[in-house]
Amino acid sequence: MRRTAAQDEEQKREQQRQRITQARATLAKGAEAITCGQCGEANSLEAWTQRPLSGALPLGQFQCPACGYAFQRRETTPGEVWDNGRERLYIPGKIEEAACQPQM
Ligand SMILES: [Zn+2]
Repeated sequence: MRRTAAQDEEQKREQQRQRITQARATLAKGAEAITCGQCGEANSLEAWTQRPLSGALPLGQFQCPACGYAFQRRETTPGEVWDNGRERLYIPGKIEEAACQPQM
């Protein structure tokens, strides 16, 4: 039986869908992936910054989509103000991962 143009078109679309699915899986497990320090789940940066109920997390806050472990990158030692009488400059303290309140 001869294939119709519509069947050829459908096959092309199916191949394209498979390529997109593979590319997404590669992104999720590749360089962009964040691995949870608590449960070992690896997920994309996007999955770590979106929650099902509250939506996008605040900037700099991340939450494991599998176990819910939440953390922020923030100053864990106080910064200091450098002042030479003419200019004032804020020098940040040590910035580390710190656990925070998870969101729904
Ligand atoms: Zn986790």
